[in-house]
Amino acid sequence: MKIDLQSEFNDYTKNLNKASKDQNINTAITRAVKAYRSTVAETLERFPHTPELAAEVREIKTHSMANNSELLAQAMASVERNKGKAFYAKDQQQALEIAAGIIGTGKTVVKGKSMLGEELHLREYLEGKGNEVWETDLGEFILQLKHDRPMHILSPAIHVPREQVAEIFSKFFNKEVPPDIAEEVGIVREFLREKYFSAHVGISGANVVAADTGAVVIIENEGNVRLASGAPPVHLVMVGVEKIVPTFQEAMKTAEVTWRYAQYGVPGYVNIVSGPSKTGDIEKVTTYGAHGPREFYVIFVDNGRSEMAGDEKFTQALHCLRCGGCMYECPVFQVTAGHFGHTYLSGIGAVWTAFVSGGLEKAAPLVYTCLRCGRCMERCPMQINVPAMIAELRNRIVNGAATGEEDLPQVARS
Ligand code: SF4
Repeated sequence: MKIDLQSEFNDYTKNLNKASKDQNINTAITRAVKAYRSTVAETLERFPHTPELAAEVREIKTHSMANNSELLAQAMASVERNKGKAFYAKDQQQALEIAAGIIGTGKTVVKGKSMLGEELHLREYLEGKGNEVWETDLGEFILQLKHDRPMHILSPAIHVPREQVAEIFSKFFNKEVPPDIAEEVGIVREFLREKYFSAHVGISGANVVAADTGAVVIIENEGNVRLASGAPPVHLVMVGVEKIVPTFQEAMKTAEVTWRYAQYGVPGYVNIVSGPSKTGDIEKVTTYGAHGPREFYVIFVDNGRSEMAGDEKFTQALHCLRCGGCMYECPVFQVTAGHFGHTYLSGIGAVWTAFVSGGLEKAAPLVYTCLRCGRCMERCPMQINVPAMIAELRNRIVNGAATGEEDLPQVARS
Protein backbone atom coordinates (compact mmCIF):
# COMPACT_ATOMS: atom_id res chain seq x y z
CA MET A 1 0.00 0.00 0.00
CA LYS A 2 1.35 3.43 -0.90
CA ILE A 3 1.31 5.92 1.96
CA ASP A 4 1.01 9.64 1.20
CA LEU A 5 3.40 11.24 3.65
CA GLN A 6 4.13 14.62 2.14
CA SER A 7 1.16 16.53 3.52
CA GLU A 8 1.62 15.03 7.01
CA PHE A 9 5.27 16.10 6.95
CA ASN A 10 4.62 19.64 5.72
CA ASP A 11 2.19 20.61 8.49
CA TYR A 12 4.14 18.79 11.14
CA THR A 13 7.53 20.31 10.23
CA LYS A 14 6.08 23.82 10.21
CA ASN A 15 4.53 23.23 13.62
CA LEU A 16 7.69 21.68 15.06
CA ASN A 17 9.89 24.56 13.89
CA LYS A 18 7.46 27.09 15.35
CA ALA A 19 7.41 25.25 18.68
CA SER A 20 11.21 25.16 18.85
CA LYS A 21 11.22 28.99 18.79
CA ASP A 22 8.43 29.39 21.35
CA GLN A 23 9.80 31.12 24.43
CA ASN A 24 7.03 29.79 26.69
CA ILE A 25 7.88 26.22 25.79
CA ASN A 26 11.57 26.87 26.16
CA THR A 27 11.24 28.38 29.64
CA ALA A 28 8.71 25.87 30.91
CA ILE A 29 10.53 22.75 29.68
CA THR A 30 13.95 23.94 30.85
CA ARG A 31 12.54 24.38 34.36
CA ALA A 32 10.65 21.08 34.24
CA VAL A 33 13.65 19.03 33.07
CA LYS A 34 15.87 20.47 35.78
CA ALA A 35 13.25 19.85 38.46
CA TYR A 36 12.48 16.31 37.25
CA ARG A 37 16.11 15.21 37.13
CA SER A 38 16.98 16.38 40.60
CA THR A 39 13.74 15.11 42.16
CA VAL A 40 13.87 11.68 40.53
CA ALA A 41 17.52 11.24 41.52
CA GLU A 42 16.73 12.14 45.09
CA THR A 43 13.64 9.89 45.12
CA LEU A 44 15.53 6.89 43.78
CA GLU A 45 18.19 7.45 46.40
CA ARG A 46 15.57 7.50 49.15
CA PHE A 47 13.94 4.32 47.84
CA PRO A 48 16.91 2.30 46.53
CA HIS A 49 14.87 -0.89 46.05
CA THR A 50 13.04 0.74 43.11
CA PRO A 51 15.27 -0.44 40.20
CA GLU A 52 14.99 -4.02 41.47
CA LEU A 53 11.23 -3.63 41.75
CA ALA A 54 11.18 -2.25 38.20
CA ALA A 55 12.94 -5.43 37.01
CA GLU A 56 10.20 -7.44 38.69
CA VAL A 57 7.52 -5.32 37.03
CA ARG A 58 9.17 -5.93 33.63
CA GLU A 59 8.59 -9.66 34.22
CA ILE A 60 5.01 -8.99 35.35
CA LYS A 61 4.31 -6.97 32.21
CA THR A 62 5.88 -9.57 29.91
CA HIS A 63 3.78 -12.31 31.47
CA SER A 64 0.64 -10.14 31.46
CA MET A 65 0.86 -9.25 27.79
CA ALA A 66 1.52 -12.89 26.85
CA ASN A 67 -1.70 -13.83 28.68
CA ASN A 68 -3.72 -10.71 28.00
CA SER A 69 -6.90 -12.41 26.69
CA GLU A 70 -7.18 -14.67 29.74
CA LEU A 71 -6.48 -11.78 32.11
CA LEU A 72 -9.06 -9.63 30.36
CA ALA A 73 -11.72 -12.32 30.82
CA GLN A 74 -10.72 -12.74 34.46
CA ALA A 75 -10.72 -8.98 35.13
CA MET A 76 -14.17 -8.60 33.55
CA ALA A 77 -15.55 -11.47 35.63
CA SER A 78 -14.05 -9.92 38.79
CA VAL A 79 -15.66 -6.53 38.09
CA GLU A 80 -19.05 -8.25 37.58
CA ARG A 81 -18.59 -10.29 40.75
CA ASN A 82 -18.10 -6.99 42.60
CA LYS A 83 -21.48 -5.78 41.22
CA GLY A 84 -19.88 -3.53 38.64
CA LYS A 85 -20.49 -3.84 34.89
CA ALA A 86 -17.59 -4.69 32.58
CA PHE A 87 -17.44 -4.04 28.83
CA TYR A 88 -14.91 -4.77 26.11
CA ALA A 89 -14.52 -2.30 23.25
CA LYS A 90 -12.56 -3.46 20.25
CA ASP A 91 -12.09 0.01 18.79
CA GLN A 92 -12.62 3.73 19.30
CA GLN A 93 -16.16 3.78 17.94
CA GLN A 94 -17.29 0.94 20.18
CA ALA A 95 -15.65 2.48 23.24
CA LEU A 96 -17.38 5.81 22.62
CA GLU A 97 -20.76 4.20 21.95
CA ILE A 98 -20.60 2.14 25.14
CA ALA A 99 -19.64 5.25 27.14
CA ALA A 100 -22.46 7.25 25.56
CA GLY A 101 -24.89 4.40 26.30
CA ILE A 102 -23.98 4.56 29.99
CA ILE A 103 -23.95 8.35 30.24
CA GLY A 104 -26.80 9.32 27.95
CA THR A 105 -27.42 12.94 27.09
CA GLY A 106 -27.98 16.20 28.96
CA LYS A 107 -25.74 15.06 31.84
CA THR A 108 -22.97 16.77 33.76
CA VAL A 109 -19.75 14.77 33.68
CA VAL A 110 -16.55 15.31 35.66
CA LYS A 111 -13.51 13.68 34.20
CA GLY A 112 -10.01 12.81 35.43
CA LYS A 113 -6.89 12.97 33.27
CA SER A 114 -6.61 10.04 30.91
CA MET A 115 -4.41 9.48 27.87
CA LEU A 116 -6.94 6.95 26.66
CA GLY A 117 -9.56 9.71 26.83
CA GLU A 118 -7.32 11.82 24.57
CA GLU A 119 -6.81 8.87 22.23
CA LEU A 120 -10.58 8.38 21.92
CA HIS A 121 -11.46 12.12 21.84
CA LEU A 122 -13.83 11.24 24.64
CA ARG A 123 -14.71 14.70 25.95
CA GLU A 124 -15.46 16.09 22.50
CA TYR A 125 -17.64 13.06 21.71
CA LEU A 126 -19.63 13.30 24.92
CA GLU A 127 -20.08 17.04 24.45
CA GLY A 128 -21.35 16.32 20.96
CA LYS A 129 -23.97 14.09 22.58
CA GLY A 130 -25.28 17.06 24.56
CA ASN A 131 -23.41 16.58 27.83
CA GLU A 132 -21.51 19.15 29.88
CA VAL A 133 -18.06 17.68 30.48
CA TRP A 134 -15.47 19.18 32.80
CA GLU A 135 -11.82 18.22 32.94
CA THR A 136 -10.89 18.17 36.63
CA ASP A 137 -7.11 17.81 36.44
CA LEU A 138 -5.84 21.40 36.71
CA GLY A 139 -3.62 21.14 33.64
CA GLU A 140 -6.39 19.55 31.57
CA PHE A 141 -8.84 22.18 32.80
CA ILE A 142 -6.50 24.92 31.55
CA LEU A 143 -6.23 23.18 28.18
CA GLN A 144 -10.00 22.72 27.96
CA LEU A 145 -10.43 26.48 28.32
CA LYS A 146 -7.49 27.18 26.00
CA HIS A 147 -8.77 24.73 23.35
CA ASP A 148 -5.33 23.18 23.35
CA ARG A 149 -3.96 19.67 23.65
CA PRO A 150 -1.65 18.10 26.29
CA MET A 151 2.07 18.73 25.89
CA HIS A 152 3.14 16.13 28.44
CA ILE A 153 1.40 12.97 29.64
CA LEU A 154 1.69 13.90 33.33
CA SER A 155 1.85 17.68 33.15
CA PRO A 156 -0.44 18.43 30.22
CA ALA A 157 -0.21 22.23 30.50
CA ILE A 158 3.56 22.22 31.00
CA HIS A 159 3.90 24.84 28.25
CA VAL A 160 1.49 27.38 29.74
CA PRO A 161 3.15 29.80 32.20
CA ARG A 162 1.22 31.41 35.07
CA GLU A 163 0.80 34.72 33.23
CA GLN A 164 -1.03 33.00 30.39
CA VAL A 165 -3.10 30.95 32.86
CA ALA A 166 -4.16 34.25 34.50
CA GLU A 167 -5.30 35.61 31.14
CA ILE A 168 -7.29 32.47 30.33
CA PHE A 169 -8.94 32.36 33.76
CA SER A 170 -9.72 36.11 33.81
CA LYS A 171 -11.61 35.67 30.55
CA PHE A 172 -13.44 32.51 31.61
CA PHE A 173 -14.37 33.58 35.14
CA ASN A 174 -15.10 37.10 33.97
CA LYS A 175 -13.01 38.74 36.67
CA GLU A 176 -9.39 39.77 37.15
CA VAL A 177 -7.30 36.72 38.12
CA PRO A 178 -3.69 37.66 39.03
CA PRO A 179 -0.73 35.59 37.77
CA ASP A 180 -0.39 34.02 41.18
CA ILE A 181 -0.33 30.20 41.16
CA ALA A 182 -2.03 29.77 44.55
CA GLU A 183 -4.88 32.07 43.49
CA GLU A 184 -5.19 30.30 40.15
CA VAL A 185 -5.42 26.91 41.88
CA GLY A 186 -7.93 28.32 44.38
CA ILE A 187 -10.36 29.65 41.82
CA VAL A 188 -10.49 26.32 39.96
CA ARG A 189 -10.94 24.43 43.22
CA GLU A 190 -13.94 26.59 44.05
CA PHE A 191 -15.47 26.25 40.59
CA LEU A 192 -15.08 22.48 40.30
CA ARG A 193 -16.19 21.68 43.84
CA GLU A 194 -19.75 22.47 42.89
CA LYS A 195 -19.43 20.39 39.70
CA TYR A 196 -18.30 17.24 41.55
CA PHE A 197 -21.45 17.23 43.66
CA SER A 198 -23.87 18.13 40.89
CA ALA A 199 -22.36 15.78 38.29
CA HIS A 200 -24.26 12.70 37.19
CA VAL A 201 -21.16 10.77 36.15
CA GLY A 202 -17.47 10.74 37.04
CA ILE A 203 -15.00 9.32 34.52
CA SER A 204 -11.48 8.19 35.28
CA GLY A 205 -8.71 6.26 33.61
CA ALA A 206 -6.60 3.70 35.47
CA ASN A 207 -2.90 3.05 35.94
CA VAL A 208 -3.28 -0.65 36.51
CA VAL A 209 -6.04 -3.24 36.97
CA ALA A 210 -5.72 -6.46 39.00
CA ALA A 211 -7.46 -9.35 37.24
CA ASP A 212 -7.89 -11.46 40.39
CA THR A 213 -9.91 -8.86 42.29
CA GLY A 214 -11.06 -6.42 39.61
CA ALA A 215 -9.36 -3.67 41.63
CA VAL A 216 -8.66 -0.57 39.57
CA VAL A 217 -5.68 1.48 40.76
CA ILE A 218 -5.57 5.19 39.97
CA ILE A 219 -2.59 7.31 41.00
CA GLU A 220 -3.00 11.05 41.46
CA ASN A 221 -1.86 14.08 43.42
CA GLU A 222 -4.58 16.70 43.14
CA GLY A 223 -7.43 14.79 44.78
CA ASN A 224 -9.62 15.48 41.74
CA VAL A 225 -9.91 11.79 40.80
CA ARG A 226 -10.90 10.97 44.37
CA LEU A 227 -13.75 13.48 44.10
CA ALA A 228 -14.71 12.74 40.49
CA SER A 229 -14.84 9.01 41.16
CA GLY A 230 -16.42 9.30 44.61
CA ALA A 231 -19.01 12.10 44.57
CA PRO A 232 -21.22 11.45 41.50
CA PRO A 233 -23.69 8.52 41.59
CA VAL A 234 -21.97 6.81 38.65
CA HIS A 235 -18.26 6.05 38.18
CA LEU A 236 -17.08 5.01 34.73
CA VAL A 237 -13.51 3.75 34.26
CA MET A 238 -12.05 3.59 30.76
CA VAL A 239 -8.82 1.65 30.57
CA GLY A 240 -6.59 0.09 27.91
CA VAL A 241 -6.43 -3.71 27.97
CA GLU A 242 -2.65 -3.54 28.42
CA LYS A 243 -3.08 -2.22 31.97
CA ILE A 244 -4.24 -5.57 33.36
CA VAL A 245 -1.89 -7.62 35.56
CA PRO A 246 -2.74 -10.91 37.27
CA THR A 247 -2.88 -10.06 40.96
CA PHE A 248 -3.52 -7.23 43.37
CA GLN A 249 0.02 -7.52 44.75
CA GLU A 250 1.46 -7.24 41.26
CA ALA A 251 -0.77 -4.22 40.61
CA MET A 252 0.65 -2.47 43.65
CA LYS A 253 4.22 -3.22 42.56
CA THR A 254 3.43 -1.81 39.13
CA ALA A 255 1.85 1.27 40.68
CA GLU A 256 4.84 1.92 42.92
CA VAL A 257 7.30 1.76 40.02
CA THR A 258 5.03 4.04 37.98
CA TRP A 259 4.89 6.82 40.56
CA ARG A 260 8.56 6.48 41.53
CA TYR A 261 9.73 7.08 37.94
CA ALA A 262 7.19 9.86 37.72
CA GLN A 263 9.44 11.39 40.45
CA TYR A 264 7.24 10.76 43.49
CA GLY A 265 8.38 9.13 46.70
CA VAL A 266 4.69 8.57 47.20
CA PRO A 267 1.83 10.27 45.35
CA GLY A 268 -0.83 12.35 47.09
CA TYR A 269 -3.45 9.66 46.57
CA VAL A 270 -3.65 6.09 45.40
CA ASN A 271 -7.29 5.26 44.65
CA ILE A 272 -8.30 1.61 44.61
CA VAL A 273 -11.83 1.05 43.34
CA SER A 274 -13.40 -2.33 42.69
CA GLY A 275 -17.16 -1.76 42.58
CA PRO A 276 -20.03 0.47 43.63
CA SER A 277 -20.10 1.72 47.22
CA LYS A 278 -21.75 -0.65 49.68
CA THR A 279 -22.60 -1.13 53.34
CA GLY A 280 -23.46 -4.05 55.55
CA ASP A 281 -24.07 -1.96 58.62
CA ILE A 282 -27.73 -2.79 59.05
CA GLU A 283 -28.25 -6.46 59.93
CA LYS A 284 -25.17 -7.38 57.90
CA VAL A 285 -27.23 -7.13 54.72
CA THR A 286 -24.99 -5.93 51.90
CA THR A 287 -26.65 -2.94 50.27
CA TYR A 288 -25.16 -1.15 47.26
CA GLY A 289 -25.13 2.62 46.91
CA ALA A 290 -23.86 3.95 50.22
CA HIS A 291 -21.92 7.23 50.19
CA GLY A 292 -20.00 6.68 46.96
CA PRO A 293 -21.30 5.82 43.49
CA ARG A 294 -24.27 3.48 43.17
CA GLU A 295 -23.12 2.29 39.76
CA PHE A 296 -19.64 1.28 38.62
CA TYR A 297 -18.64 0.55 35.02
CA VAL A 298 -15.34 -0.46 33.46
CA ILE A 299 -14.76 -0.33 29.71
CA PHE A 300 -11.66 -2.25 28.65
CA VAL A 301 -10.48 -0.75 25.38
CA ASP A 302 -8.39 -2.52 22.74
CA ASN A 303 -8.24 -0.09 19.80
CA GLY A 304 -5.10 -1.53 18.18
CA ARG A 305 -3.44 -2.90 21.30
CA SER A 306 -3.98 -6.56 20.37
CA GLU A 307 -2.40 -5.91 17.01
CA MET A 308 0.58 -4.32 18.75
CA ALA A 309 0.78 -7.22 21.18
CA GLY A 310 0.75 -9.69 18.30
CA ASP A 311 3.62 -7.96 16.53
CA GLU A 312 6.69 -9.27 18.31
CA LYS A 313 8.81 -6.25 17.39
CA PHE A 314 6.38 -3.94 19.22
CA THR A 315 4.83 -5.95 22.08
CA GLN A 316 7.24 -4.35 24.52
CA ALA A 317 5.78 -0.89 23.82
CA LEU A 318 2.67 -2.07 25.70
CA HIS A 319 4.74 -2.32 28.87
CA CYS A 320 4.82 1.49 29.04
CA LEU A 321 3.70 2.68 32.47
CA ARG A 322 3.17 6.29 31.33
CA CYS A 323 5.54 7.52 34.00
CA GLY A 324 6.65 10.26 31.60
CA GLY A 325 10.32 9.92 32.55
CA CYS A 326 11.56 9.40 29.00
CA MET A 327 10.15 12.73 27.86
CA TYR A 328 12.41 14.70 30.15
CA GLU A 329 15.42 12.91 28.63
CA CYS A 330 14.41 13.31 25.00
CA PRO A 331 16.49 16.03 23.27
CA VAL A 332 13.70 16.79 20.78
CA PHE A 333 10.97 16.95 23.42
CA GLN A 334 13.14 19.38 25.35
CA VAL A 335 12.83 21.99 22.62
CA THR A 336 9.39 21.24 21.21
CA ALA A 337 7.38 19.66 24.08
CA GLY A 338 4.31 17.74 22.94
CA HIS A 339 4.59 19.07 19.40
CA PHE A 340 6.85 16.03 19.01
CA GLY A 341 3.81 13.81 19.25
CA HIS A 342 0.33 13.19 18.05
CA THR A 343 -1.76 11.97 21.01
CA TYR A 344 1.10 10.04 22.55
CA LEU A 345 4.36 11.91 22.72
CA SER A 346 8.06 11.56 21.89
CA GLY A 347 9.70 8.29 20.72
CA ILE A 348 7.39 5.91 22.56
CA GLY A 349 4.51 8.10 21.38
CA ALA A 350 5.53 7.53 17.77
CA VAL A 351 5.16 3.79 18.27
CA TRP A 352 1.79 4.15 20.00
CA THR A 353 0.58 6.52 17.32
CA ALA A 354 1.40 3.96 14.64
CA PHE A 355 -0.82 1.35 16.28
CA VAL A 356 -3.56 3.07 18.26
CA SER A 357 -4.03 6.70 17.38
CA GLY A 358 -3.63 7.61 13.77
CA GLY A 359 -1.72 4.82 12.08
CA LEU A 360 1.52 4.87 10.15
CA GLU A 361 0.72 8.08 8.29
CA LYS A 362 0.28 10.11 11.45
CA ALA A 363 3.25 8.35 13.05
CA ALA A 364 5.62 8.89 10.11
CA PRO A 365 6.72 12.47 10.92
CA LEU A 366 7.32 11.47 14.54
CA VAL A 367 9.25 8.39 13.48
CA TYR A 368 11.61 10.56 11.43
CA THR A 369 11.90 13.20 14.15
CA CYS A 370 13.20 10.69 16.68
CA LEU A 371 16.99 10.82 16.85
CA ARG A 372 17.23 7.19 18.06
CA CYS A 373 19.74 8.43 20.64
CA GLY A 374 18.50 5.89 23.19
CA ARG A 375 18.36 8.30 26.12
CA CYS A 376 14.70 7.39 26.70
CA MET A 377 15.66 3.75 27.09
CA GLU A 378 18.26 4.61 29.71
CA ARG A 379 15.62 6.31 31.82
CA CYS A 380 12.76 3.89 31.14
CA PRO A 381 11.92 1.57 34.05
CA MET A 382 10.59 -0.92 31.49
CA GLN A 383 13.72 -0.55 29.31
CA ILE A 384 11.55 -0.26 26.23
CA ASN A 385 13.75 -0.40 23.15
CA VAL A 386 12.26 2.59 21.37
CA PRO A 387 15.23 3.10 18.99
CA ALA A 388 14.82 -0.43 17.59
CA MET A 389 11.08 0.10 17.15
CA ILE A 390 11.66 3.40 15.38
CA ALA A 391 14.09 1.68 12.98
CA GLU A 392 11.48 -0.97 12.23
CA LEU A 393 8.75 1.63 11.67
CA ARG A 394 11.07 3.47 9.23
CA ASN A 395 11.49 0.22 7.31
CA ARG A 396 7.77 -0.26 7.15
CA ILE A 397 7.11 3.34 6.12
CA VAL A 398 9.69 3.22 3.34
CA ASN A 399 8.46 -0.13 2.09
CA GLY A 400 4.89 1.07 2.23
CA ALA A 401 5.49 4.58 0.96
CA ALA A 402 8.19 4.52 -1.61
CA THR A 403 8.02 3.21 -5.10
CA GLY A 404 11.25 5.13 -5.76
CA GLU A 405 13.65 7.48 -4.02
CA GLU A 406 11.68 10.53 -5.25
CA ASP A 407 8.67 9.41 -3.18
CA LEU A 408 10.49 9.79 0.09
CA PRO A 409 9.67 13.01 1.88
CA GLN A 410 12.36 15.68 2.15
CA VAL A 411 12.66 15.38 5.91
CA ALA A 412 13.22 11.67 5.67
CA ARG A 413 16.36 12.10 3.60
CA SER A 414 18.00 14.76 5.70
S1 SF4 B 1 8.44 4.61 27.65
FE1 SF4 B 1 9.29 4.10 29.70
S2 SF4 B 1 10.01 6.06 30.53
FE2 SF4 B 1 8.59 6.55 28.84
S3 SF4 B 1 6.59 6.82 29.79
FE3 SF4 B 1 6.72 4.66 29.15
S4 SF4 B 1 7.54 3.56 30.96
FE4 SF4 B 1 7.91 5.75 31.33
